[in-house]
Amino acid sequence: MVEGKIRNADRGSYSLYKTGKSKSIRHYLYPMSAHKIYMEQCFALAEKAAAEGESPVGCVIVKNGVVIGTAYEKSRQLKDITRHAETLAVLDALQHTTDLSGSVLYTNVEPCILCSYVIRHYKIGEVVFASRSGELGGTHKPFNILTTDALKSWTEPPKVTVFNEN
Ligand SMILES: [Zn+2]
Repeated sequence: MVEGKIRNADRGSYSLYKTGKSKSIRHYLYPMSAHKIYMEQCFALAEKAAAEGESPVGCVIVKNGVVIGTAYEKSRQLKDITRHAETLAVLDALQHTTDLSGSVLYTNVEPCILCSYVIRHYKIGEVVFASRSGELGGTHKPFNILTTDALKSWTEPPKVTVFNEN
């Protein structure tokens, strides 16, 4: 039995969850969709993070149908708030290519303001997430760094898709 905390996206707080061998958090909290394969990988990475005492966030970056970056939350272990899953996945992807334009970033939780800056800087084409992060989320106004078109030095914002199987 794994016990940990799942980010309650809407309230920006955390609540406990439990997963057993036959039942996983993703089976009752998150539905499936066309993005199922990569989001499943995010959930698996998130569970790994939770098992290590981190916020349960996992991230996968895909370009041309190939996974080029994966990571899970490491902020607590590394004592560094910038070590969010999304930022670490970008760093991982940059080991393979310097051009992340046109890539798709999957994460089980909406990228925060910090990670949104990184996503915009590297011109990631699409962001798919399962649950929202509330006021710290990159789509939340007035600090909607992920979706704003107000900054002239950035290219157009990525397509944002909320993962929902139903
Ligand atoms: Zn973040």
